[in-house]
Amino acid sequence: MTQLEHARAGRATAEMKAVAAAEPIAEADLVAAVAAGTVVIPANRNHRHLKPAGIGRGLRTKVNANIGTSGDFHGIEDERRKLQAVLDCGCDAVMDLSTGGDVTAIRRDLLARSPIPFGNVPVYEMMVDAPRQGTPFVSLAPGRMLEYLRRQAEDGVDFMTVHAGLTRRAIEQLRRRPRLAGIVSRGGSMLTAWMLHNDRENPLLERFDDLLAIAREFDVTLSLGDGLRPGALADGSDWAQLEELLTLGGLVQRARLAGVQVMVEGPGHLPLPQVEMNMRLQKEVCGGAPFYVLGPVVTDVAPGYDHVTAAIGSAVAGAAGADFLCYVTPAEHLGLPDVQDVRDGIMASRIAAHVADIAKGLPGAMDWDRRMAAARRRLDWDAQERLCLDAERFRQVRGRRATQTDACSMCGDFCVYKVLKDIDA
Ligand code: SF4
Repeated sequence: MTQLEHARAGRATAEMKAVAAAEPIAEADLVAAVAAGTVVIPANRNHRHLKPAGIGRGLRTKVNANIGTSGDFHGIEDERRKLQAVLDCGCDAVMDLSTGGDVTAIRRDLLARSPIPFGNVPVYEMMVDAPRQGTPFVSLAPGRMLEYLRRQAEDGVDFMTVHAGLTRRAIEQLRRRPRLAGIVSRGGSMLTAWMLHNDRENPLLERFDDLLAIAREFDVTLSLGDGLRPGALADGSDWAQLEELLTLGGLVQRARLAGVQVMVEGPGHLPLPQVEMNMRLQKEVCGGAPFYVLGPVVTDVAPGYDHVTAAIGSAVAGAAGADFLCYVTPAEHLGLPDVQDVRDGIMASRIAAHVADIAKGLPGAMDWDRRMAAARRRLDWDAQERLCLDAERFRQVRGRRATQTDACSMCGDFCVYKVLKDIDA
C-alpha cells in the first residue's frame, strides 16, 4: 500500500510519524492531509536509509536541488561532491538529471548515498541509454519506456517527473500561437519529437494507467511535469501552458483514484505580477495538489545571477501557496553547475522558502527571526552564528574584516546597539 492508501485507511505510517515529529502539524492532521492529497511523502519502499520529508499545505516549504552529469562533464566524483554539498546545505530533496556517462550507474550510486528523497526524470535515461542500445528515442516503443521507468522505480527513486500532460492538442496551440522561446523542457522537447515523428499521442499519457500501476507498486510519487512551461517572460501564462495545466488537473484525479501520490510542476519564467495568479490557478485546477515550482525566474536578463531572480519568484510563489521550490543556480542558462553553484543555489532557495513560511504564517517561522533579532541586539555573535541559515558564510564574512570592538567592523564603537545599550530605547 502507498502512503496515500494507508492515510485513507486512517493509519499513520512510520514515515508520517517522522514527518509529523519534524513539522508544526499534529499527526492526525497530517494523516488527513495525505489522505486528501494536499500533502505527499515521497518514500519509495525500496529506498533504504531514507529520512522522509512531507511536501504540501501546512508544512515547511521544501527545497530541491538538481544535480547530475552532462555530455561534457560526466565524472561521478563531481556529482558525489555536489550531493554532499546538497546534504551539507540542509536541502530537503535532490534530483539526478544526468545525461552524460553511464547514467544508470550514476543514478544508482547517488541514490544509494542519498538519505533525502531522491527524484529523477525517467525520459532522460531513455534518451541517453536507448540510442546506445541501438534505438533512437523517437523509435522507442511505449512498452520499452515503461520498462525503463519500472527499473528506476525498482531501484528506489522516490519521485519522478513525468510529462504526461503534454498533448497533441497543446502542441497544436503552440503552432497557432507561436512562442518567443518555444519548448524549453528537455523532457517536453523529447516527447514532442516522439509525438511528431510517430504522429501519435504522448506515450506517457496513452499508457498512464500502466505508469500508475508501477508508481503504486513501489509508492513512487509522481511529479506531473510541465513540458510546456514558459521559458521566457514573454511566454508566461500563455495558451499552451494553461492547456497543459488543465490536462494535469485531470491526471491528478486519476493518480489519486489509483492510490498514487502526486504533485504538479509549474513555471519556469514569469513576470512577477503573474506568479500569484499561477499559484492560485494551479491549486484550484489540481485539487490542492502540492505545487513544485521551477523558480520561477522573474527576469530574463540576469544570467549569472539566476539564483537571485529565481529566489525572488520563489518567495512570491511560496507566499501564494507553492510547496516545493526547485533551486536555480548562478550557472542556469550558462553551463553545468559546480559545487559552489550548487551551494549558492540552495541557500538562495532556502531563504525564499523561509520568507514564504513567514508569509504563510507557518507556526514557529517568525519566532526564528525574533530570536535572531534579539541576539543581534545583544551583540551575541555565537547565538547569531547558531541561528543563521549558513554558519559557514557567517564566519567567512565576519572574519574577513575583523574589529577590535565587541560589535562588527561596519560601525565599531558607533554601533547602535552599543550606543544605546544602557538606555531603554
Ligand atoms: S557595528 Fe553596525 S553593522 Fe555591526 S552590528 Fe553594530 S550596528 Fe550593526
